Amino acid sequence: MLAALGPDADLGHVMWHLDQGPAHVRELAADVVGPQLAAATDIDPLSVETDRPHIATWVWLTRTWPPGGPWGMPRGVARGLPDPAVDLLTEWALRAAKTELDRVRGALNRGALMRITAGQHDGQLAVVLASAWRFDDEKKTVVDGPPPGYEVQLLGPESESERRVVVPTEMMRLARREEMAEAAGFPTTFSDDWHGCVCWAQGLILWHQHHAPEVWAREPAQAYAPAIERLLTVALLDAVRQEGLSEPDGSRVHLAKFSAALEIVGRPHRWERLTATVERLAEAGIIPARALLERIQLAPEKDAADERRAMLELAAAVLTANGLAARVVPPGSTPEQPLAAGTVSPMLADQALAIQKTAAASSIDDGTVSVLVDGTVWFANDSEMTWSKVSLACAECQARTGLTLIASSDPEGAYECGSGHRRRDHRLPASAIRHIYSLRGAHIREDLEIRRS
Ligand SMILES: [Zn+2]
Repeated sequence: MLAALGPDADLGHVMWHLDQGPAHVRELAADVVGPQLAAATDIDPLSVETDRPHIATWVWLTRTWPPGGPWGMPRGVARGLPDPAVDLLTEWALRAAKTELDRVRGALNRGALMRITAGQHDGQLAVVLASAWRFDDEKKTVVDGPPPGYEVQLLGPESESERRVVVPTEMMRLARREEMAEAAGFPTTFSDDWHGCVCWAQGLILWHQHHAPEVWAREPAQAYAPAIERLLTVALLDAVRQEGLSEPDGSRVHLAKFSAALEIVGRPHRWERLTATVERLAEAGIIPARALLERIQLAPEKDAADERRAMLELAAAVLTANGLAARVVPPGSTPEQPLAAGTVSPMLADQALAIQKTAAASSIDDGTVSVLVDGTVWFANDSEMTWSKVSLACAECQARTGLTLIASSDPEGAYECGSGHRRRDHRLPASAIRHIYSLRGAHIREDLEIRRS
Protein backbone atom coordinates (compact mmCIF):
# COMPACT_ATOMS: atom_id res chain seq x y z
CA MET A 1 0.00 0.00 0.00
CA LEU A 2 2.85 2.38 0.76
CA ALA A 3 4.10 1.66 -2.74
CA ALA A 4 0.78 2.83 -4.15
CA LEU A 5 0.64 5.98 -2.03
CA GLY A 6 4.13 7.13 -2.94
CA PRO A 7 7.06 8.44 -0.92
CA ASP A 8 5.20 11.40 0.70
CA ALA A 9 2.59 9.23 2.43
CA ASP A 10 2.59 9.48 6.20
CA LEU A 11 0.70 7.61 8.88
CA GLY A 12 -2.36 9.86 8.48
CA HIS A 13 -2.61 9.03 4.78
CA VAL A 14 -2.20 5.33 5.43
CA MET A 15 -5.00 5.43 8.01
CA TRP A 16 -7.34 7.31 5.70
CA HIS A 17 -6.92 4.76 2.95
CA LEU A 18 -7.21 1.75 5.26
CA ASP A 19 -10.39 3.27 6.69
CA GLN A 20 -11.96 3.12 3.24
CA GLY A 21 -11.97 -0.68 3.49
CA PRO A 22 -10.64 -3.68 1.55
CA ALA A 23 -12.27 -2.73 -1.77
CA HIS A 24 -10.43 0.58 -1.71
CA VAL A 25 -7.14 -1.13 -0.90
CA ARG A 26 -7.66 -3.31 -3.97
CA GLU A 27 -8.31 -0.19 -6.07
CA LEU A 28 -5.08 1.34 -4.79
CA ALA A 29 -3.21 -1.81 -5.64
CA ALA A 30 -4.30 -1.46 -9.25
CA ASP A 31 -1.71 1.32 -9.63
CA VAL A 32 1.05 -1.09 -8.66
CA VAL A 33 -0.05 -4.54 -9.87
CA GLY A 34 -2.52 -3.58 -12.60
CA PRO A 35 -6.34 -3.66 -12.50
CA GLN A 36 -6.68 -7.34 -13.32
CA LEU A 37 -4.51 -8.65 -10.51
CA ALA A 38 -5.91 -6.03 -8.14
CA ALA A 39 -9.37 -7.61 -8.31
CA ALA A 40 -8.13 -11.20 -8.33
CA THR A 41 -8.18 -13.91 -5.70
CA ASP A 42 -5.98 -17.02 -5.72
CA ILE A 43 -3.59 -15.80 -8.41
CA ASP A 44 -1.58 -18.64 -9.93
CA PRO A 45 2.04 -17.77 -8.98
CA LEU A 46 3.23 -19.34 -12.26
CA SER A 47 1.16 -16.84 -14.28
CA VAL A 48 2.82 -13.70 -12.87
CA GLU A 49 6.31 -12.30 -12.32
CA THR A 50 6.71 -13.21 -8.68
CA ASP A 51 10.31 -11.97 -8.66
CA ARG A 52 8.87 -8.47 -8.50
CA PRO A 53 8.38 -7.90 -4.78
CA HIS A 54 5.03 -6.06 -5.02
CA ILE A 55 3.58 -8.85 -7.12
CA ALA A 56 4.79 -11.55 -4.77
CA THR A 57 3.30 -9.69 -1.80
CA TRP A 58 0.02 -9.25 -3.63
CA VAL A 59 -0.21 -12.94 -4.51
CA TRP A 60 0.21 -13.69 -0.82
CA LEU A 61 -2.34 -11.09 0.32
CA THR A 62 -5.05 -12.33 -2.05
CA ARG A 63 -4.78 -16.09 -1.64
CA THR A 64 -7.57 -17.88 0.22
CA TRP A 65 -6.98 -20.32 3.04
CA PRO A 66 -9.56 -23.11 2.77
CA PRO A 67 -9.57 -25.66 5.60
CA GLY A 68 -7.09 -28.41 4.75
CA GLY A 69 -6.12 -26.30 1.74
CA PRO A 70 -3.20 -26.57 -0.66
CA TRP A 71 -0.78 -24.50 1.42
CA GLY A 72 -0.31 -27.36 3.83
CA MET A 73 -0.26 -25.22 6.97
CA PRO A 74 -2.51 -22.75 8.72
CA ARG A 75 -1.42 -19.16 8.50
CA GLY A 76 -0.30 -17.26 11.59
CA VAL A 77 -3.12 -14.72 11.69
CA ALA A 78 -6.89 -15.06 11.54
CA ARG A 79 -6.63 -18.80 11.98
CA GLY A 80 -9.71 -20.66 10.84
CA LEU A 81 -10.96 -17.94 8.52
CA PRO A 82 -10.42 -18.71 4.82
CA ASP A 83 -10.74 -15.21 3.32
CA PRO A 84 -7.73 -13.47 1.75
CA ALA A 85 -5.67 -11.29 4.06
CA VAL A 86 -6.45 -8.13 2.14
CA ASP A 87 -10.16 -8.59 2.84
CA LEU A 88 -9.78 -9.80 6.39
CA LEU A 89 -6.95 -7.81 7.83
CA THR A 90 -7.39 -4.29 6.48
CA GLU A 91 -9.21 -3.36 9.67
CA TRP A 92 -6.44 -4.96 11.68
CA ALA A 93 -3.87 -2.88 9.82
CA LEU A 94 -5.93 0.24 10.55
CA ARG A 95 -5.86 -0.60 14.24
CA ALA A 96 -2.11 -1.03 14.16
CA ALA A 97 -1.66 2.31 12.36
CA LYS A 98 -3.96 4.01 14.85
CA THR A 99 -1.99 2.66 17.78
CA GLU A 100 1.16 4.12 16.25
CA LEU A 101 -0.51 7.49 15.61
CA ASP A 102 -1.70 7.54 19.24
CA ARG A 103 1.88 7.07 20.33
CA VAL A 104 3.43 9.59 17.96
CA ARG A 105 0.92 12.34 18.73
CA GLY A 106 0.73 11.72 22.48
CA ALA A 107 -2.86 10.54 22.84
CA LEU A 108 -4.16 9.87 26.33
CA ASN A 109 -3.80 6.31 27.55
CA ARG A 110 -6.73 3.96 27.58
CA GLY A 111 -8.08 3.98 31.12
CA ALA A 112 -7.24 7.62 31.87
CA LEU A 113 -9.82 9.11 34.22
CA MET A 114 -11.43 12.31 32.91
CA ARG A 115 -13.74 14.95 34.33
CA ILE A 116 -16.11 16.32 31.68
CA THR A 117 -16.30 20.11 31.96
CA ALA A 118 -18.97 21.17 29.47
CA GLY A 119 -21.89 19.98 27.39
CA GLN A 120 -24.50 17.37 28.04
CA HIS A 121 -22.38 15.34 30.46
CA ASP A 122 -20.88 18.32 32.31
CA GLY A 123 -19.44 17.30 35.67
CA GLN A 124 -19.46 13.55 35.03
CA LEU A 125 -16.44 11.34 35.37
CA ALA A 126 -15.42 9.11 32.48
CA VAL A 127 -12.71 6.66 31.51
CA VAL A 128 -10.89 6.91 28.17
CA LEU A 129 -11.51 3.91 25.92
CA ALA A 130 -9.89 5.09 22.69
CA SER A 131 -8.81 8.15 20.80
CA ALA A 132 -11.28 9.49 18.23
CA TRP A 133 -9.35 10.86 15.23
CA ARG A 134 -10.99 12.95 12.55
CA PHE A 135 -10.31 12.37 8.87
CA ASP A 136 -9.71 15.17 6.39
CA ASP A 137 -11.39 13.68 3.32
CA GLU A 138 -10.14 16.42 1.01
CA LYS A 139 -6.48 15.79 1.86
CA LYS A 140 -7.15 12.09 2.43
CA THR A 141 -5.44 12.04 5.79
CA VAL A 142 -5.99 12.48 9.53
CA VAL A 143 -6.35 16.07 10.77
CA ASP A 144 -3.17 17.47 12.36
CA GLY A 145 -2.48 17.65 16.06
CA PRO A 146 -3.57 15.62 19.04
CA PRO A 147 -6.86 13.67 18.99
CA PRO A 148 -9.84 16.05 18.71
CA GLY A 149 -11.86 13.75 20.96
CA TYR A 150 -12.01 10.47 22.81
CA GLU A 151 -14.44 7.66 23.11
CA VAL A 152 -15.10 7.42 26.83
CA GLN A 153 -17.18 5.35 29.19
CA LEU A 154 -19.24 7.50 31.53
CA LEU A 155 -18.91 6.48 35.16
CA GLY A 156 -21.80 6.74 37.54
CA PRO A 157 -23.17 5.14 40.64
CA GLU A 158 -25.67 3.08 38.62
CA SER A 159 -24.43 0.62 36.05
CA GLU A 160 -27.13 1.87 33.67
CA SER A 161 -25.23 5.10 33.36
CA GLU A 162 -22.11 3.31 32.11
CA ARG A 163 -22.44 4.40 28.55
CA ARG A 164 -19.97 5.03 25.77
CA VAL A 165 -19.89 8.46 24.19
CA VAL A 166 -17.40 10.51 22.19
CA VAL A 167 -16.43 13.73 23.94
CA PRO A 168 -14.37 16.56 22.38
CA THR A 169 -10.96 16.89 24.00
CA GLU A 170 -11.55 20.55 24.92
CA MET A 171 -14.65 19.56 26.87
CA MET A 172 -12.81 17.51 29.49
CA ARG A 173 -9.76 17.47 31.68
CA LEU A 174 -7.73 14.77 33.37
CA ALA A 175 -9.41 13.97 36.64
CA ARG A 176 -7.36 13.97 39.78
CA ARG A 177 -6.51 10.70 41.48
CA GLU A 178 -8.43 12.02 44.47
CA GLU A 179 -11.60 11.72 42.43
CA MET A 180 -11.21 7.97 41.88
CA ALA A 181 -13.25 6.94 44.93
CA GLU A 182 -16.17 9.10 43.87
CA ALA A 183 -15.83 7.86 40.30
CA ALA A 184 -16.04 4.27 41.46
CA GLY A 185 -19.11 4.95 43.56
CA PHE A 186 -17.16 4.20 46.74
CA PRO A 187 -18.49 6.12 49.79
CA THR A 188 -16.49 9.26 50.52
CA THR A 189 -18.29 10.53 53.62
CA PHE A 190 -18.91 8.66 56.84
CA SER A 191 -20.09 9.32 60.37
CA ASP A 192 -16.41 9.77 61.30
CA ASP A 193 -12.86 8.77 60.31
CA TRP A 194 -13.11 5.50 62.23
CA HIS A 195 -16.12 4.30 60.25
CA GLY A 196 -14.50 5.38 57.03
CA CYS A 197 -11.50 3.24 57.88
CA VAL A 198 -13.75 0.29 58.76
CA CYS A 199 -15.40 0.58 55.35
CA TRP A 200 -12.06 0.67 53.53
CA ALA A 201 -10.64 -2.20 55.62
CA GLN A 202 -13.61 -4.34 54.61
CA GLY A 203 -13.17 -3.36 50.98
CA LEU A 204 -9.46 -4.19 50.96
CA ILE A 205 -10.13 -7.60 52.54
CA LEU A 206 -12.95 -8.39 50.11
CA TRP A 207 -10.71 -7.59 47.15
CA HIS A 208 -7.88 -9.69 48.58
CA GLN A 209 -10.13 -12.67 49.29
CA HIS A 210 -11.12 -12.70 45.62
CA HIS A 211 -7.66 -12.11 44.21
CA ALA A 212 -5.68 -14.36 46.55
CA PRO A 213 -8.20 -17.08 47.43
CA GLU A 214 -5.39 -19.56 48.09
CA VAL A 215 -4.21 -17.45 51.04
CA TRP A 216 -7.69 -17.38 52.57
CA ALA A 217 -8.29 -21.09 51.98
CA ARG A 218 -5.49 -21.89 54.41
CA GLU A 219 -6.44 -22.41 58.05
CA PRO A 220 -6.95 -20.32 60.06
CA ALA A 221 -7.06 -17.29 57.78
CA GLN A 222 -10.85 -17.09 57.69
CA ALA A 223 -11.01 -17.25 61.47
CA TYR A 224 -8.63 -14.28 61.58
CA ALA A 225 -10.77 -12.15 59.29
CA PRO A 226 -12.50 -10.07 62.02
CA ALA A 227 -9.15 -9.39 63.65
CA ILE A 228 -7.54 -8.51 60.31
CA GLU A 229 -10.34 -6.03 59.70
CA ARG A 230 -9.62 -4.33 63.03
CA LEU A 231 -5.87 -4.32 62.44
CA LEU A 232 -6.33 -2.71 59.05
CA THR A 233 -8.79 -0.20 60.48
CA VAL A 234 -6.25 0.87 63.08
CA ALA A 235 -3.47 1.04 60.50
CA LEU A 236 -5.58 3.14 58.14
CA LEU A 237 -6.77 5.42 60.91
CA ASP A 238 -3.23 6.00 62.04
CA ALA A 239 -2.21 6.77 58.45
CA VAL A 240 -5.10 9.23 58.14
CA ARG A 241 -3.99 11.04 61.28
CA GLN A 242 -0.27 10.96 60.50
CA GLU A 243 -0.93 12.48 57.08
CA GLY A 244 -3.20 15.22 58.42
CA LEU A 245 -6.29 13.85 56.66
CA SER A 246 -8.65 13.86 59.65
CA GLU A 247 -12.11 15.29 59.03
CA PRO A 248 -15.28 15.09 61.15
CA ASP A 249 -17.04 13.25 58.31
CA GLY A 250 -14.12 11.05 57.22
CA SER A 251 -14.18 12.70 53.83
CA ARG A 252 -10.41 12.43 53.28
CA VAL A 253 -9.87 8.84 54.39
CA HIS A 254 -9.57 7.75 50.75
CA LEU A 255 -6.43 9.89 50.40
CA ALA A 256 -4.49 7.76 52.89
CA LYS A 257 -1.37 6.14 51.42
CA PHE A 258 -0.91 2.38 51.49
CA SER A 259 2.72 2.90 52.50
CA ALA A 260 1.71 4.87 55.60
CA ALA A 261 -0.69 2.15 56.73
CA LEU A 262 1.99 -0.48 56.13
CA GLU A 263 4.20 1.29 58.65
CA ILE A 264 1.89 -0.06 61.35
CA VAL A 265 1.24 -3.65 60.30
CA GLY A 266 4.13 -4.25 57.91
CA ARG A 267 6.61 -4.97 60.68
CA PRO A 268 5.54 -8.25 62.25
CA HIS A 269 8.13 -7.97 65.01
CA ARG A 270 6.72 -4.66 66.17
CA TRP A 271 3.49 -5.65 67.84
CA GLU A 272 4.42 -3.11 70.51
CA ARG A 273 4.17 -0.30 68.04
CA LEU A 274 0.69 -1.40 67.04
CA THR A 275 -0.38 -1.68 70.67
CA ALA A 276 0.99 1.81 71.35
CA THR A 277 -0.89 3.15 68.34
CA VAL A 278 -4.12 1.59 69.56
CA GLU A 279 -3.62 3.13 72.97
CA ARG A 280 -2.82 6.52 71.50
CA LEU A 281 -5.93 6.47 69.34
CA ALA A 282 -7.99 5.31 72.31
CA GLU A 283 -6.63 8.06 74.50
CA ALA A 284 -7.68 10.58 71.89
CA GLY A 285 -11.18 9.11 72.25
CA ILE A 286 -11.23 7.83 68.70
CA ILE A 287 -11.60 4.12 69.16
CA PRO A 288 -12.89 1.89 71.89
CA ALA A 289 -9.47 0.59 72.89
CA ARG A 290 -10.31 -2.25 75.17
CA ALA A 291 -12.79 -3.91 72.84
CA LEU A 292 -10.37 -3.60 69.98
CA LEU A 293 -7.42 -4.98 71.87
CA GLU A 294 -9.48 -7.90 73.04
CA ARG A 295 -10.24 -8.75 69.47
CA ILE A 296 -6.73 -8.60 68.16
CA GLN A 297 -4.83 -9.76 71.20
CA LEU A 298 -5.62 -13.35 71.86
CA ALA A 299 -5.59 -14.91 75.27
CA PRO A 300 -2.04 -14.71 76.66
CA GLU A 301 -1.21 -18.31 75.93
CA LYS A 302 2.19 -19.38 74.86
CA ASP A 303 1.20 -19.52 71.18
CA ALA A 304 -0.19 -16.00 71.22
CA ALA A 305 2.98 -14.43 69.83
CA ASP A 306 2.90 -16.71 66.78
CA GLU A 307 -0.75 -15.97 66.20
CA ARG A 308 -0.17 -12.25 66.40
CA ARG A 309 2.64 -12.51 63.92
CA ALA A 310 0.47 -14.54 61.56
CA MET A 311 -2.31 -11.94 61.81
CA LEU A 312 0.03 -9.05 61.17
CA GLU A 313 1.52 -10.86 58.22
CA LEU A 314 -1.90 -11.45 56.71
CA ALA A 315 -2.94 -7.83 57.33
CA ALA A 316 0.28 -6.66 55.69
CA ALA A 317 -0.32 -9.03 52.76
CA VAL A 318 -3.77 -7.53 52.23
CA LEU A 319 -2.37 -4.00 52.24
CA THR A 320 0.59 -4.86 50.03
CA ALA A 321 -1.43 -6.70 47.39
CA ASN A 322 -4.02 -3.93 47.20
CA GLY A 323 -1.31 -1.28 47.07
CA LEU A 324 0.52 -3.06 44.25
CA ALA A 325 -2.71 -3.46 42.27
CA ALA A 326 -3.48 0.22 42.81
CA ARG A 327 -0.16 1.49 41.43
CA VAL A 328 -1.01 4.53 39.43
CA VAL A 329 0.38 5.92 36.23
CA PRO A 330 0.87 9.68 36.47
CA PRO A 331 -1.30 11.74 34.11
CA GLY A 332 0.44 12.45 30.83
CA SER A 333 2.85 9.56 30.99
CA THR A 334 3.03 7.11 28.12
CA PRO A 335 3.39 3.35 28.05
CA GLU A 336 6.99 3.89 26.97
CA GLN A 337 7.83 5.42 30.35
CA PRO A 338 7.45 2.63 32.84
CA LEU A 339 6.99 3.81 36.39
CA ALA A 340 10.07 3.77 38.53
CA ALA A 341 9.12 1.94 41.69
CA GLY A 342 7.75 4.32 44.27
CA THR A 343 7.47 7.33 41.94
CA VAL A 344 3.83 7.64 42.77
CA SER A 345 2.69 6.23 46.07
CA PRO A 346 -0.74 4.64 45.71
CA MET A 347 -3.56 5.83 47.92
CA LEU A 348 -6.79 4.09 48.86
CA ALA A 349 -8.73 6.00 46.19
CA ASP A 350 -6.59 4.36 43.48
CA GLN A 351 -8.00 0.96 44.43
CA ALA A 352 -11.65 2.07 44.70
CA LEU A 353 -12.75 0.94 41.26
CA ALA A 354 -11.22 -2.53 41.64
CA ILE A 355 -12.90 -2.99 45.02
CA GLN A 356 -16.26 -1.88 43.69
CA LYS A 357 -16.01 -4.27 40.76
CA THR A 358 -15.11 -7.12 43.09
CA ALA A 359 -18.04 -6.27 45.32
CA ALA A 360 -20.39 -6.24 42.36
CA ALA A 361 -19.05 -9.54 41.05
CA SER A 362 -19.10 -11.30 44.42
CA SER A 363 -22.70 -10.31 45.09
CA ILE A 364 -23.75 -12.36 42.07
CA ASP A 365 -21.42 -15.34 42.57
CA ASP A 366 -24.37 -17.60 43.30
CA GLY A 367 -27.41 -18.07 41.17
CA THR A 368 -27.88 -17.72 37.46
CA VAL A 369 -26.83 -14.61 35.61
CA SER A 370 -27.79 -13.75 32.06
CA VAL A 371 -26.66 -10.99 29.72
CA LEU A 372 -28.66 -10.08 26.62
CA VAL A 373 -26.44 -8.76 23.82
CA ASP A 374 -28.23 -6.78 21.12
CA GLY A 375 -25.19 -6.71 18.83
CA THR A 376 -22.76 -9.43 17.81
CA VAL A 377 -20.67 -11.39 20.31
CA TRP A 378 -17.07 -11.54 19.06
CA PHE A 379 -14.35 -13.83 20.30
CA ALA A 380 -11.10 -11.96 19.85
CA ASN A 381 -7.84 -13.82 20.09
CA ASP A 382 -5.26 -11.12 20.40
CA SER A 383 -1.69 -12.05 21.14
CA GLU A 384 1.59 -10.89 19.74
CA MET A 385 1.78 -13.51 17.04
CA THR A 386 -1.81 -14.15 16.09
CA TRP A 387 -5.01 -12.27 15.73
CA SER A 388 -8.44 -13.50 14.94
CA LYS A 389 -12.00 -12.49 15.51
CA VAL A 390 -14.94 -14.83 15.14
CA SER A 391 -18.55 -14.22 16.03
CA LEU A 392 -20.83 -16.38 18.15
CA ALA A 393 -23.69 -17.86 16.12
CA CYS A 394 -26.57 -20.07 17.16
CA ALA A 395 -25.65 -23.62 16.10
CA GLU A 396 -29.29 -24.27 15.23
CA CYS A 397 -30.45 -21.18 13.32
CA GLN A 398 -27.21 -19.18 12.82
CA ALA A 399 -28.57 -16.13 14.64
CA ARG A 400 -25.67 -13.82 15.50
CA THR A 401 -27.46 -11.01 17.32
CA GLY A 402 -29.86 -10.89 20.21
CA LEU A 403 -28.12 -13.79 21.95
CA THR A 404 -28.40 -14.16 25.72
CA LEU A 405 -25.29 -15.38 27.55
CA ILE A 406 -26.09 -17.51 30.57
CA ALA A 407 -23.93 -18.43 33.57
CA SER A 408 -25.33 -20.98 35.99
CA SER A 409 -23.63 -23.29 38.50
CA ASP A 410 -21.94 -25.06 35.56
CA PRO A 411 -18.43 -23.64 34.95
CA GLU A 412 -19.18 -23.79 31.24
CA GLY A 413 -21.54 -21.04 30.16
CA ALA A 414 -24.30 -21.21 27.57
CA TYR A 415 -26.12 -19.00 25.10
CA GLU A 416 -29.73 -18.81 24.02
CA CYS A 417 -30.85 -17.26 20.76
CA GLY A 418 -34.01 -15.24 20.16
CA SER A 419 -35.80 -18.38 18.93
CA GLY A 420 -35.07 -20.17 22.18
CA HIS A 421 -32.27 -22.51 21.03
CA ARG A 422 -30.00 -23.04 24.00
CA ARG A 423 -26.49 -24.49 23.77
CA ARG A 424 -23.47 -24.75 26.05
CA ASP A 425 -20.29 -23.31 24.62
CA HIS A 426 -16.77 -23.93 25.89
CA ARG A 427 -15.68 -20.50 24.71
CA LEU A 428 -18.06 -18.94 27.23
CA PRO A 429 -16.81 -19.68 30.76
CA ALA A 430 -19.44 -18.85 33.38
CA SER A 431 -16.85 -16.74 35.21
CA ALA A 432 -16.37 -14.56 32.12
CA ILE A 433 -20.12 -14.05 31.79
CA ARG A 434 -20.37 -13.06 35.46
CA HIS A 435 -17.51 -10.64 34.99
CA ILE A 436 -19.22 -9.06 31.97
CA TYR A 437 -22.44 -8.84 33.97
CA SER A 438 -20.71 -7.12 36.87
CA LEU A 439 -19.15 -4.53 34.58
CA ARG A 440 -21.91 -3.91 32.04
CA GLY A 441 -25.16 -5.16 33.48
CA ALA A 442 -27.80 -7.52 32.11
CA HIS A 443 -28.39 -5.79 28.77
CA ILE A 444 -25.67 -4.74 26.34
CA ARG A 445 -27.04 -2.69 23.47
CA GLU A 446 -24.00 -2.98 21.21
CA ASP A 447 -21.43 -5.55 20.12
CA LEU A 448 -19.55 -7.41 22.81
CA GLU A 449 -15.94 -8.51 22.46
CA ILE A 450 -14.68 -11.40 24.57
CA ARG A 451 -10.91 -11.64 24.65
CA ARG A 452 -9.28 -15.04 24.72
CA SER A 453 -5.62 -15.88 24.90
ZN1 LIG B 1 -31.27 -20.33 17.18
